[in-house]
Amino acid sequence: MAFSFAIDIYGCQMNQYDGDRLRTSLIRRGWIETDRNEADAVVIVTCSIREKAEQKVLSEIGRYGKLYKTKGKPLLAVIGCMAQNMGADLLRRFPQVKVVTGPRHIGWVPDALENAMRHKTVLYLDEDPREMIDLHDAPVIRSNPYKAFVTIAHGCDNFCTYCIVPYVRGRFVSRRPNEILKEVSELVDDGVLEVTLLGQNVDSYGKDLKESYRFSNLLRDVAKVPRLLRVRFTTSHPRDFTEDVIKAMAEESKICPAVNLPIQSGSDRILKKMNRGYTVEGYGRIIKRLREALPEVSITSDLIVGFPGETEEDFQCTLEMLKTMEFGLVHTASYSPREGTPAANMPDQIPEEEKKRRLSIVNELQDAISFKKNKILEGKVFEVLLDDFAPKGKGMLQGRTPTDKVVLVPGDESMLGKLCKVRITGASNWYLYGEIVSFRDFSDVLEVRI
Ligand code: SAM
Ligand code: SF4
Repeated sequence: MAFSFAIDIYGCQMNQYDGDRLRTSLIRRGWIETDRNEADAVVIVTCSIREKAEQKVLSEIGRYGKLYKTKGKPLLAVIGCMAQNMGADLLRRFPQVKVVTGPRHIGWVPDALENAMRHKTVLYLDEDPREMIDLHDAPVIRSNPYKAFVTIAHGCDNFCTYCIVPYVRGRFVSRRPNEILKEVSELVDDGVLEVTLLGQNVDSYGKDLKESYRFSNLLRDVAKVPRLLRVRFTTSHPRDFTEDVIKAMAEESKICPAVNLPIQSGSDRILKKMNRGYTVEGYGRIIKRLREALPEVSITSDLIVGFPGETEEDFQCTLEMLKTMEFGLVHTASYSPREGTPAANMPDQIPEEEKKRRLSIVNELQDAISFKKNKILEGKVFEVLLDDFAPKGKGMLQGRTPTDKVVLVPGDESMLGKLCKVRITGASNWYLYGEIVSFRDFSDVLEVRI
């Protein structure tokens, strides 16, 4: 008998990638994807970067619990960072949870789910978090047919003092280059036009490989995959960002001129307490160099406000830094203490109300900067890959410029997956609005800068 499943994904793009690989693996085994309220089993791919993310998942698990009580289904597989963090506690608290496994053991999940369905056994799969049990299916059954994520490295060795990632995702491990290139080729054969290479710190790629093969080598090799149109990557770390990556971006036309380079704070004192390994001045030098080598480059960043001990003076430094750097977009967050990380035990924790106040000030400032930068683009023409329906509004599609700006244009389903020239007609701080000027013939795309 075929079992049915649904997948709920929370958190980062790596979780999206893991969710798509699991979907592919389960469908290849004969499982049928269905509505989450009808499914025999629901896989929840979780995040534990902030407390709020965990609370959301706990309330969702509780909601499924009511269904499970009345209908005897769905069984739940809770996987990913929060599963690693909470472990067997999830099994004890929720009878509907039958499988728990961390991000390094995703390869076990299909067998575990089948066992749970057939024998109703409860499986907790995470006894040795250092071991890597991966899935080997490329995510060919994806939520988006035109673009795909490809994880190039697992884990992180940086141990920023606020961050739970090294504890739940484990130590840094690069995937083999040939494995990555094979996966990209499979995705392209399946119709993918754009890949985003993923890692918590892509610039460290290769440091644990025997051969001398670094991130810039991988970028260049992925760009050579025939019929692939665009290569993106995230996330870069200012401590490890190197000149050879800038050179590869400048020389390979398929590598998009967009970099997400998290700064996290505008105060050197706080950066030191965060264990980030750079100063604001050092960070500024990288931005300067990037903008010199790639004048069209778009730089986005991540920022935390209310880190323990952040004074009003430190906070003012952050506001000044935002004005100087002029990022296109910043992912902002108020500091969330994560048990087991050094910062959670630091003195001078900032009260929630104050963190909220600082967050709303940085958001207001950055919104104005993003809006100003987007407004300048009105009237300009960009090459846009139409890759999805717009989140709101019937008859609207969305696409991205090479610089990763989201553009909304009027259009219908038949235009999806097409490259076109778009004239920008309007701007907000999050989106650009445009009209299609012409469609691009794919045959010449490999030779020109897109
Ligand atoms: N590896 C990347 C880097 O070097 O910044 C980022 C990866 S992390 C999963 C994504 C973002 O979550 C971080 O850039 C940081 O801004 C945010 N983050 C991580 N831990 C946090 C915490 N305890 N509280 C608030 N935000 C946090
Ligand atoms: Fe977390 Fe720092 Fe690693 Fe990014 S680099 S994942 S913030 S520990």
